[in-house]
Amino acid sequence: MVNLDIDFSKCSYCMDCVELCSAHALLFNAITGQFYFNPDNCTYCEVCLDVCGVEAIILSD
Ligand code: SF4
Ligand code: SF4
Repeated sequence: MVNLDIDFSKCSYCMDCVELCSAHALLFNAITGQFYFNPDNCTYCEVCLDVCGVEAIILSD
C-alpha cells in the first residue's frame, strides 16, 4: 500500500501538494494543523512530489 510521509523540517506549509491532489488523497485540516493521507484514494500520480519545491514529500509503496 502506498505510504506518504512529509518531512516537517523542510515543509513550508505552502499547500500546493494538497491543492493539486485531484484524487483528494492528501488533505490538510486547518483546525488541527495536520495533514491527512488516504492511501485508498492515492493514484500514485506523483504530482505532489513534482510540485513540492523543497522535496518534503516521501512516497513509498
Ligand atoms: S508542497 Fe511541500 S512544502 Fe508545500 S505543503 Fe506540501 S509538503 Fe509542504
Ligand atoms: S501521488 Fe498523486 S494522488 Fe497520491 S497524494 Fe500525491 S498528488 Fe495525490
